[in-house]
Amino acid sequence: MVTSQDIPSWRDPGRGTMVRCALWLVAEVGVGEVFTKAELRDAFPETTQIDRRMRDLRDRGWNISTNRDDPTLASSEHRLVATGAEVWKPGQSKAKTPATSISAAQRREIFETDEYLCRVCGIAAGEVYEGGVETAQLDVARREVIKPGAKLVIEMITECRRCRIGGRGTRADLAGILGRLGQMSQIERDHFSQWMAMDRRDFSMMERLWGEYRTLPAASRKAVRDAVGPA
Ligand SMILES: [Zn+2]
Repeated sequence: MVTSQDIPSWRDPGRGTMVRCALWLVAEVGVGEVFTKAELRDAFPETTQIDRRMRDLRDRGWNISTNRDDPTLASSEHRLVATGAEVWKPGQSKAKTPATSISAAQRREIFETDEYLCRVCGIAAGEVYEGGVETAQLDVARREVIKPGAKLVIEMITECRRCRIGGRGTRADLAGILGRLGQMSQIERDHFSQWMAMDRRDFSMMERLWGEYRTLPAASRKAVRDAVGPA
């Protein structure tokens, strides 16, 4: 872990803003501690886009949470959960997986795995958006994914241009999804696993059964309830 003794001063104006922001976080905030947007802006009064420079650090492995990730935070607060790349050192300030580093073959592979669908809105390449004439163009986007153990990684995903520009779903909570799956019953998990196999949600079987169950006479409804067992 980086401590404030090992690092240059964040006040050094000869360094870039993102680097100075990283140094400020280590020296003035500390890992595990909370800071406010106002404190960050006050430290860099000459920089109008200091929030963006701080977000750039996330692409370099820095885990800085907001109240969306951590409900104990107020909307004006952030927490420095973990430091990432030591961006003040030579060669360390580049983002780990910039989109430009993806080869044509890798792009094809990502599209193929995602079945040539925008994973946010579900539109396919070349399909026309609802109510319009514009056709969808697919692109590869970076997605921050929270893994179990609160580890933040970047994974690539297929998105259409419209969703990309809209900035929907900038962070995925894999840890949260796995946690909720763990709370589901075996029947729910089996059902979910069918949807995943088809990559489509299919209510039809359950809905048909439900419709038929509701029209049964009372004694027969009870027979179905007994067969299913208690909820
Ligand atoms: Zn889309």
